[in-house]
Amino acid sequence: MKLKSCSQCGFINVERMYTADSFEFANDWFCKAKDGKKIAGYVETFDKPLVPDWCPLRKAGMIDCKLPRKTKEKPSAGKS
Ligand code: SF4
Repeated sequence: MKLKSCSQCGFINVERMYTADSFEFANDWFCKAKDGKKIAGYVETFDKPLVPDWCPLRKAGMIDCKLPRKTKEKPSAGKS
């Protein structure tokens, strides 16, 4: 099975975030297969966070998905 985002998985638990602005609409995503671990916070309607590297289905080889983009670390300045 191929997944790009947890939004395609039955283990996702989406909870509405409430903010001071009642017109703001965003959700927190949690994984039911990983004891409710948070996948992503403040996910807006058209956001599609990728499947995290700790996903239990990914680790079991049950899904094929894009890896999250790794950020390049900046070289530390001032070290000699
Ligand atoms: S982390 Fe994995 S098991 Fe959990 S919701 Fe995302 S795809 Fe599904």
